[in-house]
Order: sequence, then C-alpha cells, then structure tokens
Amino acid sequence: MSTIASISTAPGIGGIGIIRMSGEDSFNVLEKIFKPKTYQKIEDIKGYTIKYGTIVDNDDIIDEVLVAYYKSPKSYTTENMCEISSHGGNIVMKKILELCLKNGADLAEPGEFTKRAFLNGRIDLAQAESVIDVINAKSDKEAKSGIKQLEGYLSKEIRDIKQEILDVLVNIEVTIDYPEYDTPEVQENEMRNMLQNVNRRLEKSEKSFDNGKIIKDGIKTAIIGKPNAGKSSLLNAILNEERAIVTDIAGTTRDTIEEFVTIKGIPLKLIDTAGIRAASDIVEKIGVEKSIKQAEDADLIIAIFDSSKDLDDEDIEILNLIKNKKSIILLNKSDLNMILNENDERLTNVSNCILKISALNKIGIDELYEKISELFSLNEINFDNEILITNIRHKNIISKALENVKKANEALNMCMPIDIITIYIKSVLEDLGEITGEVVSEDIINEIFSKFCLGK
Ligand code: GDP
Repeated sequence: MSTIASISTAPGIGGIGIIRMSGEDSFNVLEKIFKPKTYQKIEDIKGYTIKYGTIVDNDDIIDEVLVAYYKSPKSYTTENMCEISSHGGNIVMKKILELCLKNGADLAEPGEFTKRAFLNGRIDLAQAESVIDVINAKSDKEAKSGIKQLEGYLSKEIRDIKQEILDVLVNIEVTIDYPEYDTPEVQENEMRNMLQNVNRRLEKSEKSFDNGKIIKDGIKTAIIGKPNAGKSSLLNAILNEERAIVTDIAGTTRDTIEEFVTIKGIPLKLIDTAGIRAASDIVEKIGVEKSIKQAEDADLIIAIFDSSKDLDDEDIEILNLIKNKKSIILLNKSDLNMILNENDERLTNVSNCILKISALNKIGIDELYEKISELFSLNEINFDNEILITNIRHKNIISKALENVKKANEALNMCMPIDIITIYIKSVLEDLGEITGEVVSEDIINEIFSKFCLGK
C-alpha cells in the first residue's frame, strides 16, 4: 500500500497541530524533511520514540517539531507511521503536509488511516465504525457506547453467535459424511436449540437499538403551546442550564434549527428552536398549525399551558394533538394565581405526566428532566454489560439475520431436507459477517469510511 499523509488535527489555529503519515515509506519521506537534534539511523530508533528537531525545506527551517515514531506492526494502521507535532497554525501545517507529499507521500482520503487499520486486520468493521461515533459523540453516554464498541463488545457478541451456529453446522457436515455419527432427531434438536438461542440473542440486540437511537440521535422533542404560554422561556431555561452541552443542527430550511442538548445525561433534540425564538417576538407568534407539524414526528411532546388562565379552544386543540403520544404537560406560570390545576380532567385524560413549573423562575425544570428520564427509562440503560446497537447499518443487518433465522426455523418445522435448512443458517452467518466486515462489499466499505474526517 502507498504511503499516505494528512493533517489530523482540526482546521484552524491551535496550540499544536499534528501531521500524520502511514505506509512503508513513511520514515524515508520523514528523513528528507526532518532534521532531528540527535541523529539516529531509522533501524536504531525504537517504536514509540519521540524526537525533537526541525522540519526543513532544503535549508529553510519551516518549524520546530516533535516527531513520534511508530514501527510496524505496533501502530494505529499496523504500518510504519509517524506523527509530526508542529505549531498549530494553518500555514505551517499545510507547508509540512506539502513537503510530505512532495517527497513521496499521497494525500490520505477521509478515514483512510482507520480504513487501513481495518484492512490490515487490527480492528474489525464494527470497531472501525465506532471510531467515528466516538469522535462525533455529543454526550457522555454516546461516547461511552462508542468506546465500548471500539473495545470490541459488539464484535465479540457477533463472533460468539457465529461460533454457536458454526458448531452445529460442523456437526451436520460430519453427519453427512458419517451418517452413523448422529441420528436425524439429535441433529434436529441441536438445530432447534441453536436457532432458539441465536434468535433470542439477536432479538435482544435488535431491541437495544431503541435505546441506542436515543443515545445517538437524542429524544426528538417538540415544545408546543399557545402564544405566550412560555415556550421560549422554557427553551431558555433548558438551553442556559449549567453544564448543558448545546450543538446546533441545521435543519432543512434556514429557519428550522434543531438543537441537541445534553442535560444531566439526557440527550434531547429540540425541534424548531429557531421557530420558537422567532415566535417569541410579538410580530410572529407560533400558531397551533405549526405545533401540529412539529408534534407529528416527535418522540416526546412537551405541551405548555399558561396556568393563570383557563383553557381556551386553542389549548383544547393542543390537548387533542397529544392524545396517544408520549407527552408531558407543563402548567407554567405557577408563580401566579393558578386557575388550572393538575387534577383537571381535561388534562388527566390525555397525559399522566403533569407538572407545575415556572419557566421564568426556573422552578420545576429538574422535575421535568426526571420525568423525561423516567418516560424513556434512561436510567435503566446499562452500558457495562449490555450490547447497545447505535448504528442503523448494524440494526438492519441484524433484522435481516433474524429473518433468515425465522426461515430456517420454518424449514425445520416443515421437515425440509437438511441442506435446505443449512442454506438459511449459512445466510445468517453471512449476514453477521457484514457487521464485522468479513463479508462486505467494497462499496459499503468505501461509503462507511467516506463519512470520516480527514486525518482519521
Ligand atoms: P411563548 O410565546 O410561548 O414563547 O411565551 P414566552 O416564553 O415568550 O412568554 C410569554 C410571556 O410570559 C413573557 O412575558 C414571559 O416573561 C412570561 N412568562 C413566561 N413564563 C413565565 C412564568 O413562569 N411566570 C410568569 N409570571 N411569567 C412567565
């Protein structure tokens, strides 16, 4: 494979910047551009060594740097690698990269270092995919689930399931060659037990995607209510929360912004925060019509009412909207004289989560978080021992494998010949191989790595 180079730190000004090279020729390229303070032959330099010196273009000093040496196979990609830590200015880093390219390296594609780690067999595809999850994580929980996957938790589960299937398949093959080895009944029983087990394990993983999706994408939350109910005050209370991590996610149009907030470990994707803000100035007030649209694809609706007034027709319309949906009703302005209360049947009929709050005074906001946590069983998600599927590609493959388990079971129940049943069982094996990357097309591999950032 060729030798590749790339700037691995984020663009912009920073304390340090890192230029990375990987490939057989890395050290040859380095020798041409790096003058270490104390020279040693490459053969004499051990892996994991750091050397101080200057990057030079002929006799021109470009920067003072530290270079880390990683010798094959003990590196991120398993190839010879070096990392040049320079000062973190755009000009210097670009110049060093240019020198690497001029002296024999090729510009790395996005994700190419990780792709090489996969192609060279250091990590499997599921682990490689988790690298991007760790980098893009917007919350502690998301990062943690990414790290677990990188450590190989998912890969191990898939390998174990495959082994369970293989053990039975091997027995079947043996019996075909030596029919006296096992009776058909024993074989059938073995297959039935195996299929049952595999089904249970895969279903469990498939189901974990509900939680995995929440962790990765956040709970899609719509805050709805009549003009003046207190939507924008609530939004501010949430976004200004101490230690809230807020990431803007641009929507499809300019005025729909979704904001990803993680508060006390709860990942919320707030729908149309720009709309709520715009509506809080007198000119444009958010109408019930717009609320209907937002409520449609929300995982959670927070319906907010001004409790100092009685419900009017518009409020009733909003209540109709949240029937049969996961919702929390907030009786806002509880600091004023409350006319509405949480025992009101018009409210209790549509939701069993009703809270008194004062958005303006930030009272009751913690209780709101607790309710959300409860509604989505967030405290029950266990990261330590359980597999959590967060990647839609994995989820789809598991669903496909489950289909084939079902078909194998049906064939077994219909007393079909063994070779027909084993066709389905082998398909399950192939499906699972797509997760770890043993059986996967080049197109899919390229697509996965194209989503990576440069230099990773
Ligand atoms: P929106 O139109 O639903 O976004 O409502 P706003 O958040 O803009 O609030 C409308 C008005 O109600 C503003 O004057 C707020 O200051 C006021 N308000 C919001 N929440 C409270 C509250 O908890 N108590 C009191 N007394 N006033 C509030």
